[in-house]
Amino acid sequence: MIPLVPKTVVPKTAVSKTGFSNKVFSKTIVGEDAMVQLGEALGHSLLSCNSLGEVTTEKSIEVIPREAKSALVFFEGDLGAGKTTLCRGILQAFGHHGAVKSPTYTLVESYVLESDTGEVKAAQAHHFDLYRLGDPEELEFIGIRDYLEPGNFCLVEWPNRGDGILPAPDLRVAISVTATVAAEEHRLDEGEIKTVGRNVRIVAETERGEFFLSHLIEDQQIEGQGN
Ligand code: ADP
Ligand code: MG
Repeated sequence: MIPLVPKTVVPKTAVSKTGFSNKVFSKTIVGEDAMVQLGEALGHSLLSCNSLGEVTTEKSIEVIPREAKSALVFFEGDLGAGKTTLCRGILQAFGHHGAVKSPTYTLVESYVLESDTGEVKAAQAHHFDLYRLGDPEELEFIGIRDYLEPGNFCLVEWPNRGDGILPAPDLRVAISVTATVAAEEHRLDEGEIKTVGRNVRIVAETERGEFFLSHLIEDQQIEGQGN
């Protein structure tokens, strides 16, 4: 008998390693557009909180203190899970509307975030893809410490490649493909799998991360109520 219920695989990596907080965001996202939208919501959470726990609007990026415009977010999941898609949404929330190149070969792609008027260099975002990193030590050569300075938002795909060098993230995002096993209604060959979406699971590993996460959960609850 072939089960027809969607099967969700929750990777072990989704469990907070430091056990900082037991708050978890978990949602099944179907389709690329919905994934970008979740990324935007996450991006707004990263922008709208400062380290003192004050909420301001994302419009006022230039007035938020520099150290508050910082976050380190890890993205875990297989190739094709949707990590870059989610990062694209975050960068859009940061005001970047151009293409988002997957930094698979360059390791990092940087974006300057400007104020509303486009005059003030308000902060920077750095999108890493460490898939091809040979050794975590290589991160020292590319100056990882500078990237992690206050005023920088760092989004890191394949963070496990940098184990031992990268500090604990504020947020750890784990994405897994949810699939329905081939059912007759999908007219698939026996054994074929139809992917229907992604399970996105987010945990916090710092106090700042917990603040971002609470903001996101609140935002998504309002969204879910169909406001
Ligand atoms: P990764 O960076 O994890 O390797 P990508 O972000 O490049 O993965 O996404 C791989 C593919 O998965 C893309 O074609 C994208 O459109 C698709 N995709 C991403 N998120 C979803 C989703 N929630 N549901 C369905 N397809 C998705
Ligand atoms: Mg990618």
